[in-house]
Amino acid sequence: MKYVIFIPDGSSDLPLDELDGKTPLQVAETPNIDKLAQNGFGGFTNNVPDGYTPGSDVANMSIFGYNPADYYTGRGPLEAGSMGIDTKPTDVIFRCNTITEKDDTMENFNADHITSEEAAVLMDALNQHFNEKYDDFKGKFYAGISYRHLFVYSCESEEDANLLSDLNTVPPHDIAGENLTEYTTWEDDMAVNMRDIMYETQEVLKDHEVNKKRIADGKCPANMVWLWGQGTTPKLPDFKETYGLTGAVITGVDLLKGIGVFANLDVIDVPGATGFFDTDYGAKGQYGIEALKNHDVLLIHIEAPDEAGHAQLIDEKVKAIERIDEFIVGPIIESLQGEDFKAAILPDHPTPISIGTHTRDDVPLVIYSSDKTGDGCTSFDEEGVKTGSIEKQEGYKLMSRLINEF
Ligand SMILES: [Zn+2]
Repeated sequence: MKYVIFIPDGSSDLPLDELDGKTPLQVAETPNIDKLAQNGFGGFTNNVPDGYTPGSDVANMSIFGYNPADYYTGRGPLEAGSMGIDTKPTDVIFRCNTITEKDDTMENFNADHITSEEAAVLMDALNQHFNEKYDDFKGKFYAGISYRHLFVYSCESEEDANLLSDLNTVPPHDIAGENLTEYTTWEDDMAVNMRDIMYETQEVLKDHEVNKKRIADGKCPANMVWLWGQGTTPKLPDFKETYGLTGAVITGVDLLKGIGVFANLDVIDVPGATGFFDTDYGAKGQYGIEALKNHDVLLIHIEAPDEAGHAQLIDEKVKAIERIDEFIVGPIIESLQGEDFKAAILPDHPTPISIGTHTRDDVPLVIYSSDKTGDGCTSFDEEGVKTGSIEKQEGYKLMSRLINEF
């Protein structure tokens, strides 16, 4: 038996006047997905537990079969996993943005999308500065992509690491133009130390050659770092040990690669998978077919509908859904003909065009099983699954339900 889970990120939506009261999923022409729906089971699920922000990290952790309430430790650790950084249980991994600070406010949370090359030079300079100035500096900066980096801080004990993980840090994109001191009014020693580190980076960065050149070119300088999204390394049970099945994940998004790494799934890199509208859908489909030849389970995630939702572009969203159907779902299902297989398709969370960001609402779900007759669900969208028979349960239970029940 093969299992494939298609995750069109953020594809579910709200009815739009521009689409005569329909949603992008309803309007998109998706003959392959329709076939799964019409011969499968429909229903709703919810991947975001109460109290969690509806991010792709939390929602996809549910889809991968892990209850975020038990296993989610933060965004930083998942990115560390995807970057192959080895961390200990006493380490706290922060997301580290190179930002533009002006008069102690968040002038630009990404320093004008600084290039990875420039940022790597700055991260090196920070490591050098802190290691030269302090005998036993406990932190290390890791350069990532563009403005998205990591800072790993080694605590004395796991207890300290847990305390530091709980520190109330704020995503920099949420505080554009706001005062920075207000968001770092911490009192605990370790927290004060983090604040000192953030502010001390200004000494190194403000007159750095890289920034002098950026200013001369009319770009925002990366004159400070902002630490947030921290946590300890998540301890996800091994996917293979849990289900007795081998698994692979295909995605263009680091956070999801990280979940795959910690779950001990094979993370398959697809050339041309960008995590944006321009992703190479055909390549993803072909790599998916190959992955299913030597794995039992494939999770295949496509970010494009979510990006279209954020950009509030109706046509792009409809097109992304149609391309997923044509170049990913169609060819993969075709390649499985003659074999026993099950397929599920669901978004992690809705990204409604009218809102331009994620919501925590239920998402439509279709499950197809090659050896079962379906329940008369008509299509994979917010309306079509309403006639389906799948009972709504917490999202993280879907994986075991798919494997064991359908
Ligand atoms: Zn999103």
